[in-house]
Amino acid sequence: MRDESAAPVLAVDIGGTKIAAGVVSAQGDVLVSDRAPTTLGPDDGDLAIWERLHTLCENVLDAAGRPAIQGVGVGCGGPMRWPAGVVSPVNLLPWRDFPLRDRLSAAYPDVPVRVHNDAVAVVVAEHWRGAGRGVANMLGMVVSTGVGGGLVLGGRLIDGRSGNAGHVGHIVADPTGPECGCGGRGCVEAIARGPALVTWARQQGWRQDDEAATAKHLADDALAGDKIARKAFERAGHAVGIGIASAVALCDLELVVVGGGVSQVGGLLFEPLEQSLRTYARIEFARDVVVRRASLDQNAGIVGAAAFVLAGDQYWAPG
Ligand SMILES: [Zn+2]
Repeated sequence: MRDESAAPVLAVDIGGTKIAAGVVSAQGDVLVSDRAPTTLGPDDGDLAIWERLHTLCENVLDAAGRPAIQGVGVGCGGPMRWPAGVVSPVNLLPWRDFPLRDRLSAAYPDVPVRVHNDAVAVVVAEHWRGAGRGVANMLGMVVSTGVGGGLVLGGRLIDGRSGNAGHVGHIVADPTGPECGCGGRGCVEAIARGPALVTWARQQGWRQDDEAATAKHLADDALAGDKIARKAFERAGHAVGIGIASAVALCDLELVVVGGGVSQVGGLLFEPLEQSLRTYARIEFARDVVVRRASLDQNAGIVGAAAFVLAGDQYWAPG
């Protein structure tokens, strides 16, 4: 009899700017992967994106030699109805209440299809195969165009009521801070997401004539010594540190792993982060929490998506 637990998984990562798919071995190695942009033409509707995704999945399965798979794991931008896998990614407008899990189940019948948030997938990957390996109590954060996260307690992914436990981006870091896309004010995301850094820096006079300037440009300028740009990352690090201090008090964590595009600026973010974390996390049990940088590459989303199937006892609770 064939050992199904040895079969690979089809893994999918749907983010704001790209769709990635891969075939991941039962040991967690990415055997094949490929990606496609999510840039849309004027006539691209929900089915056009689905077709693009399905083609990408078929291509990676062909490249892997059409193996029998034991399941499909997906990380997708939120919001979504979880675990139903009905998705409305903020940055993928044609998909509103798109039945992603049902579509994948129809395309790949007789195997489980498990859809979770894309930031959660990255955090799961860091816990399973990256900077959080072997740690029982960990918060993972992705600081990027948004600020997402995921929570592992007692060695298991915590989902909460709607799959949003660990969504650290909407912890309030400054009640008088800028408005947040969620409708609130002063959330970590409202201060530390890449576009918020750019907005703040512009208000202070940074590259005011350069409409196309991005968080990447801001990071380059910060690393080159630009004072406003450095201050923008300092503000972000400060907000993230406050958010982490609150999360540590609530969840009694030993480790926080921080990744995402904004974190790639390195010490300019992590030094103020450490400073504010140590300023605010003063209760005895919270003092020795460790902050580490994420260690996996751009395939992290695929690896984490695969883990929803391959390590379901740790990372997939709905059954
Ligand atoms: Zn918010």
